[in-house]
Amino acid sequence: MRRRHLLESALLLAFSPLYSNAGEQDKFQLIIVGAGAAGLTCACIAAENGIKDILVLEKNPVIGGSSIISRGTWYATGTKEQKKQHVEDSDQDAALYLKSEGLGKNEDSLIRTMLEAGREQINWFEKNNIRPHLLFAEKGVKRIHQFNMPALIFFLRKKALSMGVKIWTGCPVKELIQDKTTKRVSGVIYTKAGADKKAYASLGVVLCSGGFSRNKVLLESVGHGLQNVATLAPQGLTGDGLQMAIKIGADTADLAHIKASYAFTDNPSTYNDMTFAYYYGPIIVNNDCSRFVNESAPYKEIAQKVTHQREAKSYLVFDSEIRKTVGRLSNASGPLKEFWLTGKIDTLPVFTGHSIEEVAQNAHIDPVGLKDTVSMYNENIAKIGKDPDFYRTDLTGQGSLALITHPPFYVIPVTPALLGTYGGLKINSEARVLDLTGKPIPGLWAAGEVTGGLHGAAAAMGAPLASAFSFGRIAALSAAGKLTKGKS
Ligand SMILES: Cc1cc2nc3c(=O)[nH]c(=O)nc-3n(C[C@H](O)[C@H](O)[C@H](O)COP(=O)(O)OP(=O)(O)OC[C@H]3O[C@@H](n4cnc5c(N)ncnc54)[C@H](O)[C@@H]3O)c2cc1C
Repeated sequence: MRRRHLLESALLLAFSPLYSNAGEQDKFQLIIVGAGAAGLTCACIAAENGIKDILVLEKNPVIGGSSIISRGTWYATGTKEQKKQHVEDSDQDAALYLKSEGLGKNEDSLIRTMLEAGREQINWFEKNNIRPHLLFAEKGVKRIHQFNMPALIFFLRKKALSMGVKIWTGCPVKELIQDKTTKRVSGVIYTKAGADKKAYASLGVVLCSGGFSRNKVLLESVGHGLQNVATLAPQGLTGDGLQMAIKIGADTADLAHIKASYAFTDNPSTYNDMTFAYYYGPIIVNNDCSRFVNESAPYKEIAQKVTHQREAKSYLVFDSEIRKTVGRLSNASGPLKEFWLTGKIDTLPVFTGHSIEEVAQNAHIDPVGLKDTVSMYNENIAKIGKDPDFYRTDLTGQGSLALITHPPFYVIPVTPALLGTYGGLKINSEARVLDLTGKPIPGLWAAGEVTGGLHGAAAAMGAPLASAFSFGRIAALSAAGKLTKGKS
């Protein structure tokens, strides 16, 4: 008898997957998909607000997603940091700026919620001794709060674990479990060590699974040639959450507006290869040495125009005076910082020459074409003080557009790159995912880059991270039933 029992056990073991569900918890109150800024914020705020059993499932072997490798700029207003620096600002002005960047296509209620919840979340970090190390302006008012993201993400992880949250890495979620009659989302199917498993959540599921910069098929489907653009987002950002929710009837927003960011030096590998120098004087030309865009336009608008140029190539063209202005005003970082400050080139991807023709030859672009373009630009600025071709405005505060006349001259080849896909699941201001009729899908929330509607036609600098932190917080409070009783 004993022998038969042993044999049965051995057979059972042999045909079982390596990891079985036996002994492994599969019932939770809340399941969060993705361990980036949105997911980990959601976990901490949910635990602090009384939700007991929380599971964060992370696809990659490591946590952090795009959040941990990001530049850490967070768009916020009414913060202690602004007050400390006597910055005059208001939610209305901050919202107006986001609307202008998003060409009025953003959802007002999401902007309002993001600004309010973002401020509360920054205060929460402040109470936990996490503060921005820099406050600066993209254009105009200082609203960009810059954080050390690896430190912040590891703080969130530590805090979540200390409150009993479970974070399981290497566990991609592949499907949402939905009750056929009530339509309530009650759990997920995920994979662990090659085996499918189920986990259930009494309150529901929060999708914080980020964007789809690593899914060329999805990128192609939204248009604009984005599948051919370099991406800096980490592996694993393939739009899984977006597709799982669409499968159960979720609606989407802003997918048609997804754009790359501008500008990166060729073959970019981190955000340090990004420059906003063109806001301080350089003109942008294409492979034919023609201008084709307003250099003071939102950086995502510019990126989109570049992707439609021949070979999607573009170049910054400027002189030594503009180089100094960029060094003074642009808060430059990364490999080009030294060049902007001192003019030192060494091995940097910067071409120089004593005339426009010479710099064009060195950069392997058409010398005659570039000379014509620069001459026409200078002539307009000198004669009428304006750019009648593309209506560029001065963003340096100098009051007029700079001429390109002081040698040495410079050319830097630059390219758009994808930092993220800022369109996705349609949510309401409680971070609940909406279906095609505009009704919330019960038991399903979403936060961060998996969502759409907040940014409209273009995400402003610092708004994607603001979205992740704010709606991570809101989803947690909503799941905890704390939103109507006032936010904690
Ligand atoms: C280089 C770079 C610089 C950036 N700089 C800035 C900046 O300065 N300011 C700004 O506002 N924005 C910036 N962004 C964009 C911003 O970082 C992101 O939009 C934001 O961090 C998204 O946060 P998230 O939590 O929604 O997603 P993420 O941080 O990407 O986290 C999503 C997580 O979900 C996991 N996941 C995906 N699918 C599954 C699945 N099926 N199952 C389980 N887990 C899954 C992923 O592995 C990932 O860990 C930058 C992006 C990059 C790439």
